[in-house]
Amino acid sequence: MGWILIASAVAAFALGGALRWYLKRNWCRYYGSPHNVVFPRVCPVCLAPANVLVEETSPERVTAHYVIIRQVEKWKAKIPHCSKCERKQARDVTIGLVLGCLCALTIFLLTPAPEDARAVVFYAGFIYPFYVFADHVHKGIAFGWPDDKAITLRFKQAGYYDQFLELNQQLSPPLETPLAGNQGVWRH
Ligand SMILES: [Zn+2]
Repeated sequence: MGWILIASAVAAFALGGALRWYLKRNWCRYYGSPHNVVFPRVCPVCLAPANVLVEETSPERVTAHYVIIRQVEKWKAKIPHCSKCERKQARDVTIGLVLGCLCALTIFLLTPAPEDARAVVFYAGFIYPFYVFADHVHKGIAFGWPDDKAITLRFKQAGYYDQFLELNQQLSPPLETPLAGNQGVWRH
């Protein structure tokens, strides 16, 4: 595998990353603690009543780096979806992976085989943009990188985002205490 091929694979991977950003650029953003977030019982993709739970996982965050242990944390949540969108999402991801693998395989067959077998991992870079695109066609919620206390959630549908905000505001009332004698509010 020549350096041109490695550079192309890395470029394809970067393209996937850019695509991921581009497809979510208009999505609503919520930043909050993952432990007390509640999801509305409607599908985040089509807003129909939800009847299945889909598990979504955040990217991994390295929380500690010891000599022998690398501790990673990620956040998972079961999000109500409708079964129709759940099926479409699974189908899209499968199609994306198949197309990506076909693309990687074609490049593998048309170019000289890598001298070092380990270089085969670079071909995964060609699969990534296909996966990203397919994954986002029927996706309603995406998780960002978590930090110590909070995570960024992204929502495709503004209507769903409104319901989410309403639900989560009811659960955690604003941190304001009215002061006696109508002197305003105490902000925590
Ligand atoms: Zn749906």
